[in-house]
Amino acid sequence: CGNSSTPPASNPTSGTNTGSGQTAAGGKGCTKVGVLLPETASSERWDSKDKPLLTQKIQAAIPGATVDYANAGGDSTVQQNQADADLTKGDCILVLAAHDSDAAATIVTKAKQQGVPVIAYDRLIQSPDLNYYVSFDNEKVGQLQGQYIVDHYKDYIKNGKNISMINGSQTDNNAILFRNGAIKALQPLFDNGTLKKVYDQYTPDWDNDKARVEMDGVLTANQNNIQIAYVANDGMANSAIASLKAQKLNGKVLVTGQDATVAGIQNILTGDQAMTVYKAIDKEAQGAADLVKAIHDGTDPKALTNGATVKTKDGTAIPSVLETPVAVDKTNIKDTVIKDGFVKVADVCKGL
Ligand code: BGC
Repeated sequence: CGNSSTPPASNPTSGTNTGSGQTAAGGKGCTKVGVLLPETASSERWDSKDKPLLTQKIQAAIPGATVDYANAGGDSTVQQNQADADLTKGDCILVLAAHDSDAAATIVTKAKQQGVPVIAYDRLIQSPDLNYYVSFDNEKVGQLQGQYIVDHYKDYIKNGKNISMINGSQTDNNAILFRNGAIKALQPLFDNGTLKKVYDQYTPDWDNDKARVEMDGVLTANQNNIQIAYVANDGMANSAIASLKAQKLNGKVLVTGQDATVAGIQNILTGDQAMTVYKAIDKEAQGAADLVKAIHDGTDPKALTNGATVKTKDGTAIPSVLETPVAVDKTNIKDTVIKDGFVKVADVCKGL
């Protein structure tokens, strides 16, 4: 931590929709884009990263485009209403990070009826009518977390071998993939008795406060005999660390995370968290903006996918743009998130 300066963040706001009256069927010529994000409390990323990046990149891709931004605040009904409002206003492409991967299928159905394509952003929507998907390889995210434990558990299991798993929200398709990926990496150590799983629960809404209650409960139930805390993202990891701190166990338990938030990186630097997963949201937002532009221009968006697809539950292959996640621990913070400008040295050092 030293002497880096933070450039002022540009802070675009949503445009209004009083302009073109554009309602091109199928999205061709569309200049009014609805951006619908899922929560504010589950992770700082949505408001602080995805919102500005999507707005900037969509407006750069289609000069004069307006972006209607809404955040559902963790409520599927609110998200449904926000999508209805966008469709009523004549938004002609929706970029949608679903609060609930199943419930959001209704939004896709309604959009389709109006000839409005939907791009699922970050979280898959379980609808055969979904047009495109842009995200990371989310099972790989979980695998990176699990593999990190496989590679480093020996440093933590001198006095026991218990691992707890605090997963994300079960209504978020990603949370299921993260857990699947982690379990794949860990299963051999469970099977041969090296590690013992004593807790494994999904956390509704990725609620950071609930994660604290969960970790408190895990510690109590196991008389503080926990060596590894798999935690699905940095927000909940921070809660788990608060719980460990209260028992003077922080730094002694291997804690995982995801998102490379400022707090997550700080927790890694203090030794309270072992790793996080860096997902370059800039690339994800660019992927969404590129799809929006292709739809607008009437070129084939599938050309952007390199043939990749992700299947919905019912087996429909959705053309997908998938970015690659990267594991980060104290050895590569500088070469990854700092180098890319994803987190600023000045922000990380504030309060350390
Ligand atoms: C995202 C994560 C985020 C979590 C909670 C997931 O769908 O992929 O980056 O931490 O939701 O908001």
